[in-house]
Amino acid sequence: MRFSSIRARVAIVSTAFALALVGSVAVGTYVLVANGMRSAAVETADRLAGAAERALVNAVRSAEASATHDGLTGTEADEAVAALITGTPPTPFAEGLAYEGSFALHVVDAPGDAPRRAWDVGDQAETDATMRAAALRTGKTQRYVPGAQSLFTGLLIKAELGWHTTHVPVRIPGISAAVLDVSYAPHAQEAILDATRAPMLVLAAVALVGSLLIAAGATRWAMSLIENLKHTADSVDVGMLDIRLPEEGDNEVSDLARSLNRLIDSLQRRNEVQARFIADASHELATPVAGIRGYVNILRAWGAEDLALREEAVGAIDRESRRMARLCSDLLSLIRSEEQVEYRQTRYDINAVCREVLANAATRYLEKAHEYTGPGEGVLWLHGDADRIEEALGILVDNACKYTPDGGRVSVTTRRSRDRIIIEVADTGVGIPEADLPNVFERFYRSDLSRSQETGGFGLGLAIAKHIIDVSGGTIKVRSAVGRGTTFEVVLPRQRGR
Ligand code: ADP
Repeated sequence: MRFSSIRARVAIVSTAFALALVGSVAVGTYVLVANGMRSAAVETADRLAGAAERALVNAVRSAEASATHDGLTGTEADEAVAALITGTPPTPFAEGLAYEGSFALHVVDAPGDAPRRAWDVGDQAETDATMRAAALRTGKTQRYVPGAQSLFTGLLIKAELGWHTTHVPVRIPGISAAVLDVSYAPHAQEAILDATRAPMLVLAAVALVGSLLIAAGATRWAMSLIENLKHTADSVDVGMLDIRLPEEGDNEVSDLARSLNRLIDSLQRRNEVQARFIADASHELATPVAGIRGYVNILRAWGAEDLALREEAVGAIDRESRRMARLCSDLLSLIRSEEQVEYRQTRYDINAVCREVLANAATRYLEKAHEYTGPGEGVLWLHGDADRIEEALGILVDNACKYTPDGGRVSVTTRRSRDRIIIEVADTGVGIPEADLPNVFERFYRSDLSRSQETGGFGLGLAIAKHIIDVSGGTIKVRSAVGRGTTFEVVLPRQRGR
């Protein structure tokens, strides 16, 4: 697989997409659960600190009651209470509370003394001395809440929410100052977080596999489209124009398939037209060639003795070769007219063009003594390629002269109709049978009437004229009556052709 191929790029993008999805599922789930657990831990630590403070206060009260009961008063009573509270952890700490956290009592016996630890219960013996000192100094509770632990460790190995510590200042008779350290390790919340890890990783794995499967499916679908396209293009390239892309569905891909199918349709049509054109042209060329070869054989056999026969054969060869030359010239005109050359856009007077065309025809067909009528002196402007239009009109006028018996009438009229110019080329000639009318613009088409006229055309002129007029953005139509004459109507846009 090439690195720059579509398949490789899609694979890279899908893998990145899958990893991003998995990453966000895993990290997102962990962060959400960890946040919940962290605030639960803070709440529990606060609750525990409150309970511990109340337990100590209760212990001090019962120590005072016991001193009173023993008949002690004043400093004696205070010293007894102090000794009782600082000597051993009161019962609630040693029993129930100890399961939840660890506790330590630090006392300052007399003002100016250094704080000392009276007792501690649980595993977290060492707590922060600075915060404790602050609690002793200010008499205000100090809380330590650990920051976020390593995301990676928590995500993959072990959840750690850290120790929460509260330094609670307490008043104990007979003692200058005291602070109760309450430390809480949120093992329960850590356990919940750890329990979340397995399902979270399974979810992430499912997301990874799912997104890879979706990406693979999408890649296969896209690749099958591209392979289809390539297969079709390769087939068209080797000339198999019967192949078409599947068009089902209503999406961008089926739109593309329809466009390409239309392109192949038009290629196929062009191919067929081209093939028919070559066949017709070869057929037309074959006739004079066969004639020439026949006369050459006659010349070889009898040309030396029979002078009259030789003259006749040379004349016929001359005629046939002229015919071939004319056919070649018509074919060249047709090919040139269909070349993709830009049509010029100049402003010209169509009346002047028509008069020029008529004058040329009149000199060519002098012997036929036709009567010619053209547009008057007025001017009629339009935009387009004057030379091309002159060529097309020249063909129509030439046909009118050719297919009209001597002394007939050939006329060209022009008029304007809104944004169009209408030109009519009319004659009083042999006419075209109705059955031939739909075909006269086809290449090599000649009506039977004109074949019998022996006028020598090849049926290419009207195809050339129609092509020029089509490309100029116009239309051409014909109406005719056998024996009475024919009229070609050309409509051109005044402003611009394609
Ligand atoms: P050609 O070289 O044979 O004249 P065209 O393509 O110009 O070829 O014309 C095609 C056929 O249309 C002609 O062979 C003829 O049968 C018919 N045609 C064209 N113009 C006229 C016309 N003015 N009068 C009668 N028939 C015409």
